[in-house]
Amino acid sequence: MKEVPSYVVLLFHSTDARDRLSLRGLGNISPETFGELCVAIKQEFDVVSLRRFTELISAREAKQGRFLAVTFDDGPKSFALNAAHVLESLRMPSACFLITDCVGDKALYWRYLYNYCINAGFGRDLAALVSAQYNVPVKEQDMVSFTRSNFSSDKNRRIIKGILGHLIAEEKYRENECELFLSSDDLRRLKDNPLITFGIHTCTHPVMKGLGNEELRNEISGSMDFYRENIENASPMFSVPFGRLSRDYDERTVFSALDLSVSAIFSAYGGINEKGQPLYNIRRIPVHEGLLEQGVDKFVRALCKMEVGPEYREAEKRLCEAVERRFLP
Ligand SMILES: [Zn+2]
Repeated sequence: MKEVPSYVVLLFHSTDARDRLSLRGLGNISPETFGELCVAIKQEFDVVSLRRFTELISAREAKQGRFLAVTFDDGPKSFALNAAHVLESLRMPSACFLITDCVGDKALYWRYLYNYCINAGFGRDLAALVSAQYNVPVKEQDMVSFTRSNFSSDKNRRIIKGILGHLIAEEKYRENECELFLSSDDLRRLKDNPLITFGIHTCTHPVMKGLGNEELRNEISGSMDFYRENIENASPMFSVPFGRLSRDYDERTVFSALDLSVSAIFSAYGGINEKGQPLYNIRRIPVHEGLLEQGVDKFVRALCKMEVGPEYREAEKRLCEAVERRFLP
C-alpha cells in the first residue's frame, strides 16, 4: 500500500537561552531541545522551504512523501542567535514572519510587555489597568485571555501608557529586555541565506478580529511596505497574529490580505494540511516545550496524525464559502 503524502508546517516562536521575563511561558524552546527536535524531524521528514511547500500542496499531482516546513513567528532575536545555526548545520530551510514595527526592538510588543508585568510580579496592577480601561472587573488570571478576546487598539495603547507610567519605566524595560527581536543587521545578513525566507506578521501584532477594516488593512499593508523596502520587492507570505480562525481573526483579514496580494496565509490552530489546502489558509502546528515532554521522537512520530479540531473544520468551511462568494464570479 502506498503511503499517503503528509504536509506538516511547524510553528516556533523563540529558541532563547536567556531567561527573559517577556518570553517566559510564551512558547520558548531551549536551543538544545530545538536542536534535538530538528535532528528528529530531519530523520522522519523531507524538510522543504515554505514556498516549495505551497507548490506541493497546490500541485495537481500528489508527490509521494512526508513534507514538512519550519516557520517562526514574530521575528525573535533568538532566530539569529540560535535557530539559524542549527538549521543551517542540518541544511534545513525555514521561514520567519516579522512583526515589522518591532524589528530592532523599535516598537514595544504589547504581549511581551504584558507578560513581563505578570512575570515581574505586577499582574494585579496590570489587571487593575485592564479593568479600568474596559470598565469591567477583570481577574488577574483571566486578563490575558480577556484582552485577547476583547482586543481594542485604543484601549491597548492606553494600557501600555499606564504600564510605562506607573509600573515600569520604558527605559528600564528596554534595558532589562533588550534584543527581543531581530535587528536590521540581522535581516540584511539572514536574507542572503538561501535557506531562509522572511514573511510578514503585521506591523504591531494586534488581534485582527478586534480591528476595524481600515486599521486591519493598514496593519498588513504597512508590514508589506517594510518587506518590500527591506527584504525583497515581491509579494510576501503572511502569518496571522495569534492565528486561531474565527477566534483571533475572521474572513475580513483574509479578504484584506488577498486584496493586497500576499502570496499565502498561515494560521496557527494546529492540524496537518491536506492536499489542495487553500493557500489562504495553511494550517500550522505550534510547538512548545509542553508538547515535547514525552520526548522529541514521540512528538515527531505523532505529527502525521495531528488532525485539526472539529471547531476549526467548521470555521474553515465558513471561510472557504466566504472567499468563494467574494472572489469567484
Ligand atoms: Zn505572533
